[in-house]
Order: sequence, then structure tokens, then C-alpha cells
Amino acid sequence: MTITANRCARCGGPVYAHQRFCEQCGAPVGASPGAAAPVGQPGSVAPQRQSGMTGCCVAAVVGFLIVFCFGLALAALAAYLLSPSFSFGP
Ligand SMILES: [Zn+2]
Repeated sequence: MTITANRCARCGGPVYAHQRFCEQCGAPVGASPGAAAPVGQPGSVAPQRQSGMTGCCVAAVVGFLIVFCFGLALAALAAYLLSPSFSFGP
């Protein structure tokens, strides 16, 4: 009878109660919940996203306009180059 106390945070293998390190990958078990998961910091990320949203939207619109104008110019140039009969002036 084997009692599984926890699962390894690194490899997901079974880690028993008397073990301090993972038997498969050697990761420390006791410090895994606090040290191996530096993900939960929602408070410091949300204000940056809210403050940077306006600048991001402006940059997106400007970038879209630039790409749109560049695409129009490129399409006109391609049409001019691909059609021999197209010519400006008399
Ligand atoms: Zn492991």
C-alpha cells in the first residue's frame, strides 16, 4: 500500500510523504508550491494593461493606416508595372 502525498510540480510524478525530493526528476517537493510557481501576480499586471490600452489602440490604428496606405501604393505600383498600356499623360 502506497500513500501518495503530493505530485511533483515539475514532472507530475508521484511524490510520497517521506520524500523531500522527486524520485524521478529530483525537484524539491517542500518548496514547490511557493517557489516553482511565480505566476500569480494579477495585481501588478492589470494596471499596466489598462494604462497602456490607449497607446496600444493608437499604435494599432496608426500602424493599420500605414500598412493600408503602403498597400495601396504598392498595389498601384504593381498595377502600373504589370500593365504596359497604362501610362500617365498623353
Ligand atoms: Zn519530478
